[in-house]
Amino acid sequence: MANDQDMPAIDKAAEALRRLVRVFRNNTAYSGSEKTPFRILVGTLLSARTRDETVARVAHALFAKFPDAKALAAAPLQDIEATIRPIGFYHAKARYVKGLARKLVAEFDGHVPDTMEALVSLPGVGRKTASCVLNYAFQKPAIAVDVHVHRISNWLKLVKTRTPEQTEDALKQIYPENQWRFVNNAFVLHGQNICLPKHPRCGICVLNELCPARRRPPEIPLKVRFLESRAVFNQSWRVQGLQNSDKPVPSVEKPNHAQVKITRR
Ligand code: SF4
Repeated sequence: MANDQDMPAIDKAAEALRRLVRVFRNNTAYSGSEKTPFRILVGTLLSARTRDETVARVAHALFAKFPDAKALAAAPLQDIEATIRPIGFYHAKARYVKGLARKLVAEFDGHVPDTMEALVSLPGVGRKTASCVLNYAFQKPAIAVDVHVHRISNWLKLVKTRTPEQTEDALKQIYPENQWRFVNNAFVLHGQNICLPKHPRCGICVLNELCPARRRPPEIPLKVRFLESRAVFNQSWRVQGLQNSDKPVPSVEKPNHAQVKITRR
């Protein structure tokens, strides 16, 4: 195709995801070392508008004091507030985590449910947090749309949406269900490391030819850009002191077009 930016949205979406998964195949956007569903749920709730390294540190301290739903449900609110004080909106988040812990104990036998409907019934849990839990705790199909997923999807013109909820719906029409759980990881890591909101690194971006929002043409061949993107990622990953996933992200198959309903925009 003469101009990759003019590819049909479904082809461009498939190609973009395939390239990003190749760059970030051994890494996860979920930066916490806490891997149980309960800890992933609480860690994700704490992470809103807070830097990853702060969340990781605070979550570690919180779970050292209150290791499970039962302990957190019984904890004095002031103790929770004091522990999570370094993160943004700690008053509200303390109320939420105590409230959701109480509800987990009262209604779910202390366990985190694995359905969207049950998850969003918990205090402070919206669709993005619920989708993260389904993705990272249960490996279930969901597309968690944060600022990076919403912005990059629109910059690439895969979607034309105003809200994260609209983006989630639109992306679910473009990607087959067996690829949903790779979208958040790929787009978030790309947004945190390469497609930075104010100063995107377009010259080394593996999506450059696909992107109508690019600020400059590619500076180097595609296969070198894969290496450059990984080098930038590895550098920032070490600087932030975050942890690589010990599980590689599986490769993404090309979507079966016959099974995917396309919404033209
Ligand atoms: S080309 Fe630039 S704007 Fe487009 S996705 Fe890559 S880094 Fe972002």
